Amino acid sequence: MANPNDPTLRSWIDIPPTSDFPIQNLPFGVFEIEERGPRLGVAIGDYALDLYAVAQFGYFSDLDLGPKMPKVFRRRTLNQFIALGRPAWRAVRQRVSELLRHDNPALSSNPEVMRECLVRQSEVRMLRPVKPHNYTDFYSSIEHATNVGMMFRDPANALLPNWRHIPIGYHGRASSIVVSGTDIRRPNGQRKAPDADAPTFGPSQQLDFELEMAFVVGKNSTLGDTIPLQYAEDHIFGLVLFNDWSARDIQSWEYVPLGPFLGKSFGCSISPWIVTLDALEPFRVPGPVQEPEPLLYLRQLDAHNFDINLEVGLQPADSAETVVSRTNFQHMYWSMAQQLTHQSSNGCNLEVGDLYASGTISGPTPDSLGSMLELAWRGTRPVPLVDGSERSFLLDGDTVAMRGYCEKDGVRIGFGEVRGTVLPAAGS
Ligand code: CA
Repeated sequence: MANPNDPTLRSWIDIPPTSDFPIQNLPFGVFEIEERGPRLGVAIGDYALDLYAVAQFGYFSDLDLGPKMPKVFRRRTLNQFIALGRPAWRAVRQRVSELLRHDNPALSSNPEVMRECLVRQSEVRMLRPVKPHNYTDFYSSIEHATNVGMMFRDPANALLPNWRHIPIGYHGRASSIVVSGTDIRRPNGQRKAPDADAPTFGPSQQLDFELEMAFVVGKNSTLGDTIPLQYAEDHIFGLVLFNDWSARDIQSWEYVPLGPFLGKSFGCSISPWIVTLDALEPFRVPGPVQEPEPLLYLRQLDAHNFDINLEVGLQPADSAETVVSRTNFQHMYWSMAQQLTHQSSNGCNLEVGDLYASGTISGPTPDSLGSMLELAWRGTRPVPLVDGSERSFLLDGDTVAMRGYCEKDGVRIGFGEVRGTVLPAAGS
């Protein structure tokens, strides 16, 4: 059996070289078309492969997928499929890779089978791929943490004393995580200008995005158990792009002393296709040197970072898009494995479908920052857009699109995009 990551594999489907979804990727998602209801799918070029249809034609019958077959492919989320475990995900990805190979006629030579199994992505509605029961947001970019510390605290001591010892995080809100394409309503909230005597309540004036990646938990753990770092990635199904929308004025007034709350919980957006950790394996790289060396339970000997190019586009209503930031996920100081091990180190249990976001991903240069807060440096250097306007924070009607891809040996493994448009606040 060929390795599904083999760069020489080709599909019988015509896939443009710029596509995020070549045969080496095969990310999982959930889509809906009116006459069929929700289906689990795999992205391939401009198409989605309907896994329920593939299962009904018998192509998964010899795989050990348990008694929930084939119903598990006709769900509104991937949770039940993910809960089948890594051997099941791998078997399905391997079989899909074989079915889509240029020299396999099983699907390609049968027009009826092909019509049932392949649908154009432009004709489907993508659903939120998982139901997350829990969501944690980390703060693992040293550049981002340093920038925020410089702006809000002390430029000479931007990083707090715990930062290089702990992957800092907080428990976020899972219920308001939405799939790409869902509009985001500007939140109302309580905020107080530094020179004002008292706070007021109203639409946030400092709405922002945060460029992040998130990983999807693929395996439950038991309350009380801890997950050693060398097994941490066994609990990761895959990754999505993540926009952690943020209301800076609400956040800065409310966050002392217990941390982020309503300035964060009004919405997060995720990309619809989950790229598996297996597909990302060729793009594994060492992270930055950690100094001082972390405590023993967080010490990592192997490479746990991933080389993923990222960009953010900002598009005002009825205007063209400006790419306002380009950066890379490999800069993250704390790896996903360290985040997961730290989260479980007190015995807290993890659940299939949980989302763990990386924290804002900022790079070392002014054009690689992952939020408007940093790009416009708290409003002091507004970001010019191609239509001649400028932004310090987001305006109503603005659309934010985040994209990401890895590239090596002529293979591009992409994430598609996560997109959302800002609507006016309720009552305004
Ligand atoms: Ca965040």
